[in-house]
Amino acid sequence: MTASHAIARCHCGAVEFRAAFPSRFVAHCFCQSCRTAHAAGSVTWIGFKKNQVELVKGAEFINNYESSPNTWRKFCTQCGTRLAFESAREADWADEFHMPLALFVTPVDRKPHVNSFLEERPQWAPYHEF
Ligand SMILES: [Zn+2]
Ligand SMILES: [Zn+2]
Repeated sequence: MTASHAIARCHCGAVEFRAAFPSRFVAHCFCQSCRTAHAAGSVTWIGFKKNQVELVKGAEFINNYESSPNTWRKFCTQCGTRLAFESAREADWADEFHMPLALFVTPVDRKPHVNSFLEERPQWAPYHEF
């Protein structure tokens, strides 16, 4: 049985979000921007519409970094955890709120099902075939 929502928190717990299902996708992204912004081989994102995600607490700890024109990556100013990706660059993404799956402390409604920007994946990065 699946709950109606899931809770996501940064490492220090100052910032907490509540996201309502259904999610739109769960994808492993290998683009260079995600990899460097998160200092990781890939970032697993879960996507929601903006109106499905509610900030429970921690607004004062959220900062926005514009990683490319019209694209913002939120992070916790207290612990440095990356919190979200928002972009007005692609029409599809304009009303979406993408969050790292790793932040979720309660189960979500789907498993990863797609690899994005595989052409930018370094050979050493972990890889799951679908
Ligand atoms: Zn934090
Ligand atoms: Zn990416």
